[in-house]
Amino acid sequence: MTIEVSRYVIHLPIVTTDLVRARVLARTAARALTFLCVDAQETTVSEEHNPDVRHRVFCPRRLPDGRRCGLRIDHDVPCTRRRVRRRSI
Ligand SMILES: [Zn+2]
Repeated sequence: MTIEVSRYVIHLPIVTTDLVRARVLARTAARALTFLCVDAQETTVSEEHNPDVRHRVFCPRRLPDGRRCGLRIDHDVPCTRRRVRRRSI
């Protein structure tokens, strides 16, 4: 027996100051919800008044093993599965 699955999108409004912060919040929420079958890598954000213009929050590139990169969309280090944690001095 095969169970068919479909993709759905939850639109969850947030309030913040700019797109950069919206992307950070979206990545954090997506990672936190992966245990609920969330496809975190496909997470996008848009302005409420312009929902057709979506901004990816994760890098879309594939790694040599076929898995997707786990870093933010505009990262400046080589693609990797794991996110890079910045250390504060
Ligand atoms: Zn990448």
